[in-house]
Amino acid sequence: MNFPLLKVENLVKHYPLGGGMLNRNGPVVRAVEGVSFSVEAGETLCIVGESGCGKSTLARLLMRLVDPTDGRVLLEGTDIAKLEKSELRHSRRRMQMIFQDPYSSLNPRLTAGEIITEPVGNFERMNRKRREELAAELLKKVGLAPEIMHRLPSELSGGQRQRLGIARALSLKPSIIIADEAVSALDVSVQAQILNLLMDLQEELGIAFVFISHDLGVVEHIGHRVAVMYLGRIVEIATSEALFATPIHPYTQALIAAAPLPDPTMVQLEVPVEGEVPSPVNPPGGCTFHPRCPLAEERCRINVPSLVAMPDGRTVACHVRAPAGKIEHNQPGTSQLVGGLA
Ligand code: SF4
Repeated sequence: MNFPLLKVENLVKHYPLGGGMLNRNGPVVRAVEGVSFSVEAGETLCIVGESGCGKSTLARLLMRLVDPTDGRVLLEGTDIAKLEKSELRHSRRRMQMIFQDPYSSLNPRLTAGEIITEPVGNFERMNRKRREELAAELLKKVGLAPEIMHRLPSELSGGQRQRLGIARALSLKPSIIIADEAVSALDVSVQAQILNLLMDLQEELGIAFVFISHDLGVVEHIGHRVAVMYLGRIVEIATSEALFATPIHPYTQALIAAAPLPDPTMVQLEVPVEGEVPSPVNPPGGCTFHPRCPLAEERCRINVPSLVAMPDGRTVACHVRAPAGKIEHNQPGTSQLVGGLA
């Protein structure tokens, strides 16, 4: 049977507020609320949304650094929540993570070489010569000089430390890497180098990425597909080209409209969105975007919209733009949907 490399089914994460886990009926932070998607081998799926939309919690759920309240994460068909500790260790070989702040994720007392080879050392015995060969090989792969293997993280630049984090992730030959805001702490020029490095590594090694970012420029550069999150839910998933050329969900439109334009000849979308992101402790009923949405109708205040497949292959959760049961699947393009774009 052929499984997607990674499949996420109806993933939910609620954090109890006050009273801890024992107070089952107390208030909760609804960090992730019914998220589903899949990622194929060699693909980059970007997850984008404003700060607090639940994307970093999602990254931690994918790695099972936290347990879900509900839902499943299937790695090549195996539910990682059901794995015993030893099996989980082996599944983590195939799924690695790159963090936002490379400095805090690297042990300051270990040298670069020790940091890179430590994960492999958990699985196989290696003598010093083999460790140094492996460290040199991985350092070269991420564009660092093998000589730095004897340096501490504090002796490296931010870009070098992020490359070191990538080398460490590569050491276990993963099939998929979860990158959580992996370049947002870096200067723009270093960001571009790291993004290009990740794309080169993907081409060479066939690694898939779940790339989590708030930066639409980064997402457009690296993503094959993009999932847009708002208040713990995915509201639109599309290919990168389709999403940036013709965003359909009003929130996606607002995000793109608010982003600085890299090309001054591009037309800025004008979608007025007012107000702040509501609290995930007490989110609005129905579509959680309705208090800010210029297209909101009565039904939006009552019913939660489901993700609906559109003719061009994307999925959108919006009663107005993608009403369930009213999409003409034999119509090409998106302009013939429900009134077109605003
Ligand atoms: Fe706006 Fe309604 Fe669509 Fe939500 S469902 S995005 S409130 S139009």
